[in-house]
Amino acid sequence: MLGAMPSHPWSWSLTALSLCLALPAPAWAKPSASEAREREAALLMGSVLGGTPMLEDLRSLVDEVGGRATGSDANRRSVEWALERFRAAGVPAKSEPFRMPALWLEESARATVQGQGVRFVPRVAAMPFSAATPKGGQSAPLVDVGRGAEADFTRVGAKARGAFVLVETDELRDVDDLFREYEEAVGIEARAVAAGVTGVVYMGSRPGNQLYRHNVSSGPKNTRPMLVMERDGALRAQRLLRAGKALTLSATLELKTGGPYEAHNVIGEIRGATKPDEVVVLGAHLDSWDLGGGALDNGANVAMLIDLARQMKRLGLVPARTIRFALWNGEEQGMYGSSGYVASHAAELDGHVMALSVDIGCGRINGFFTNGRPPLVPLVDQALAPAAGLGPFTQVDVPVVGTDNLDFMLQGVANLIANQESATYGPNYHARSDEFSQCDARTLRGNAAVVGALAWGFATMEARLPRQSRAEVEALMRATDLPQQMKSFNLWEEWESGARGGRPQGRQVSPAPR
Ligand SMILES: [Zn+2]
Repeated sequence: MLGAMPSHPWSWSLTALSLCLALPAPAWAKPSASEAREREAALLMGSVLGGTPMLEDLRSLVDEVGGRATGSDANRRSVEWALERFRAAGVPAKSEPFRMPALWLEESARATVQGQGVRFVPRVAAMPFSAATPKGGQSAPLVDVGRGAEADFTRVGAKARGAFVLVETDELRDVDDLFREYEEAVGIEARAVAAGVTGVVYMGSRPGNQLYRHNVSSGPKNTRPMLVMERDGALRAQRLLRAGKALTLSATLELKTGGPYEAHNVIGEIRGATKPDEVVVLGAHLDSWDLGGGALDNGANVAMLIDLARQMKRLGLVPARTIRFALWNGEEQGMYGSSGYVASHAAELDGHVMALSVDIGCGRINGFFTNGRPPLVPLVDQALAPAAGLGPFTQVDVPVVGTDNLDFMLQGVANLIANQESATYGPNYHARSDEFSQCDARTLRGNAAVVGALAWGFATMEARLPRQSRAEVEALMRATDLPQQMKSFNLWEEWESGARGGRPQGRQVSPAPR
């Protein structure tokens, strides 16, 4: 497919010639609608594969704005940064407010392990929604609770009360390990709280002294200090404890915390020519955690979406449906930006045709999660046809929780997540090492071409899926492990209370015609 790009007059004329030979219609005949769509997709793809400012945007976001946790000054700067790029590209864009439930930022984190002639200072990071320690720090015995299973807490018994418990982890290699880590943490933290611990210390699951942030499983409701200790330091403490040393952990976590506040998404838009009220949402999140610069998660895909908007505008491509480039905020703390969007755009959601999230780093896109909507698979296949040379692509029809597709799924809007090869994503996830150099430029451009083809396909094809009713979304809940996944991300209560997935009175979607 890429060989047919009109980048070289010679290859273009060859393509034109082969079209003349292949088609019964004369060469000057108007191309069919599907031919026009494919040619436009090819133009867009060729453009993002070439010398655009995509990588320069990524560099500037990661190095100049830097890590940008929602609620921080850097995060506010990232909103201005994104608006400025859309403006420079001539793409209309605005910042849209939404409510964050609680402010949480780390200012500093320190810890000392000592006892019986031993003293060392391992690197530590506060887990998001950890409680701060009292001024001057907090000291308590450090107790080895193995992997934090039920049997481990039974074995340790009353010694866990009032202690910092040290939880062993496996080294994380890929995205599957990451999801396991999140799922296991729910039980570990519940058992630790039931045992009356002072705080939880996770052994870092990344090699050496790498630090990363991993949300506390109970979110803002957590009341204890919880931290990740560099793997080398935690292994040393564990060996000492297992050799019979009595150790004390002194931790000082200085945090900036507060109640609800307002943050902003940035929404760029290319308005549809013939179906402007039908909307395709392309989303990546602007916020990141703050130990590193947030290139994989998720600056690369922010830069990609901005570039797609820029190239559509530059090429004068106007889709049938409206395309919105949604740069979400508040994702890392619970997908609050996309949740806010579905609430503030509730009246338009029936017209939302598809919402895509690209949020698994910089590895090659090898297909899309269709999130429990089998009829979506052939539409994705159709949209990806112009990108076949960048495949193969396999669509996986299971619901996935963990990024900004969720609230669209709960609202019955067809939603996709780009599935990506792990590449550098897993070991650098939320880590100090999530920096510009983790992303391979060629792969990122290839992904931009794939997302460009997908977006153009959905914004121009005749077919569309209707929005699902609440009953259909509930049926999906019953048929899949969606509730379990939502529990492991601390999202289930918000669904049950109607804070997520609720529909305003009088705006219930009518049942599908019988
Ligand atoms: Zn992310």
